[in-house]
Amino acid sequence: MHIFKDVKSYSKWRESIDTSVGFVPTMGCLHAGHSFLVQNSVKENENTVVSIFVNPTQFGPNEDFEKYPRTIDDDIRLLEETGCSAVFLPYNKMMYDNPKVFVDVDELDEMLCGEKRPGHFKGVLTVVAKLFNIIRPTRAYFGEKDYQQFVIINKMVKDLFFELEMRMIPIVREKDGLALSSRNRYLCEEHRKHAVILSEIIRFAQENCFEGMKITEAYKMIRNKFLENIPDFMKVDYVDIRNGNDFRFEDNITRDSRIFLAIYCGETRLIDNGKIL
Ligand code: AMP
Repeated sequence: MHIFKDVKSYSKWRESIDTSVGFVPTMGCLHAGHSFLVQNSVKENENTVVSIFVNPTQFGPNEDFEKYPRTIDDDIRLLEETGCSAVFLPYNKMMYDNPKVFVDVDELDEMLCGEKRPGHFKGVLTVVAKLFNIIRPTRAYFGEKDYQQFVIINKMVKDLFFELEMRMIPIVREKDGLALSSRNRYLCEEHRKHAVILSEIIRFAQENCFEGMKITEAYKMIRNKFLENIPDFMKVDYVDIRNGNDFRFEDNITRDSRIFLAIYCGETRLIDNGKIL
């Protein structure tokens, strides 16, 4: 497995490749969710490149950029086992050398995580655009776990004519339903036990909502069953049912409805989402 730390050495390798390249961008601290993206890429491409870069521009001033877990040796070991061809490990100064140009999106970043984390998607789009230009992938792999992120990057790919295929890969979960996340390691035992509430709410919505049901009714059910008795250390950032294509509010549940959740468990902000019908 090749390890590249700068654009020049990566480009030299890339120019020697005339078969397909699958690309999995990550922030490291890899888990089975990331491995699943890599496995999908390995299946569909002759070469797979994984980037590991904790992107400073997608973190707000009071977020966890400094303390975001960095486990590079373990990550490289895991990638060697998955059949990954190359790892790209850029450094901040190379990615952001006196930057003046950023990529941004209208409307799609005004709700859900975009509303709660101003500037987050601008940082994501900017780094992903840079990485797409460096890596030059045939296909790029993203997790359904960050569904809003996928929709926004997909729009960038279309609007800016990036020549690549976007693939969305299903969420990998723990046995009890908690979506795997690098941030789960912040959770103490007590918080971890209660973190399962996010996936329980999704499952409850899937089992109890029906086409045409008033969304205000769905919220009432979710509030009564889950949110009224939530422990003090949990704070709901949002629990929203929206149209999954453009995140519009709707009056009734439709085939396009998705439930989106962001809940703080202590200091740790957990997100999850799922299609309802
Ligand atoms: P991150 O390192 O958190 O930026 O995530 C890198 C990629 O892995 C993103 O496309 C995520 O959506 C995806 N991902 C993270 N957690 C999971 C999971 N539990 N299942 C599937 N994909 C995931």
